[in-house]
Amino acid sequence: MRNPVGSHVPVAGGLARTGLAYARDLGAETVQVFVANPRGWATPTGNPAEDERFRAECAAGGITAYVHAPYLINFGSHTEATAEKSVDSLRHSLRRGREIGALGVVVHTGSATGGRPREVALAQVRERMLPLLDELTHDDDPFLLLESTAGQGFSLCSRTWDFGPYFEALDAHPKLGVCLDTCHVFAAGHDLTGPHGTGRTLDQLVETVGAGRLKLIHANDSKDVAGAFKDRHENIGAGRIGEEPFRALFTHPATENVPLVIETPGGKAGHAADVERLKKLRDG
Ligand SMILES: [Zn+2]
Repeated sequence: MRNPVGSHVPVAGGLARTGLAYARDLGAETVQVFVANPRGWATPTGNPAEDERFRAECAAGGITAYVHAPYLINFGSHTEATAEKSVDSLRHSLRRGREIGALGVVVHTGSATGGRPREVALAQVRERMLPLLDELTHDDDPFLLLESTAGQGFSLCSRTWDFGPYFEALDAHPKLGVCLDTCHVFAAGHDLTGPHGTGRTLDQLVETVGAGRLKLIHANDSKDVAGAFKDRHENIGAGRIGEEPFRALFTHPATENVPLVIETPGGKAGHAADVERLKKLRDG
């Protein structure tokens, strides 16, 4: 399969018991999960039996798995406590990612708070995030996948070229990759529509970070127009991006073997329809 299509899935009740049952109902070929409350700092230990079942069922079903780290993480924060908790929280997500057999852990690139210049925030990213990458020494450690934001506030990374300084700050570490969220990049000002919208954006990303770094796509339509700097996801084809750019995603060389995960509204029915729609766009 050139591009597995799947969804972020709820896991309250168990990674395998709830999460993979949900994935099966959607016909998902790939899944993304939280391993902690996304709006908190807690770092819960997993349930080894459930972890084992998750790994085994993913392997049996040919399903790849990804972890999304908590939203509060901000390696650019000027608040010492937030920077420290970001390290603990991301280290936890990376460890849990390995325990459940995830291929990647997605983290938001954060923002330069407190009026500090971007360079100062990026120096802090280097100081605090690079050691976490250096800890990824096991063969089965996940990649750390940077997800850019819609460009609100003092985002460190929203346009494709913003990944340049961020990768530089992290010495373009071999365990570093990119998770491209179509809604975020559209909201940040990359119009994916038109005959060359998607292709041009992907070309720019590859020019910035090099080939092979794009490891995951968050496939979300956008309720708002390109350049609105608003992070409001919409169902595939129902928003301002529309279906065609998603069709184009499936044919660009940069997306070869890259899974697509939806994070769209509408609950389970909405997710099932979006997974089906993307598969149709992929399979023609
Ligand atoms: Zn996303």
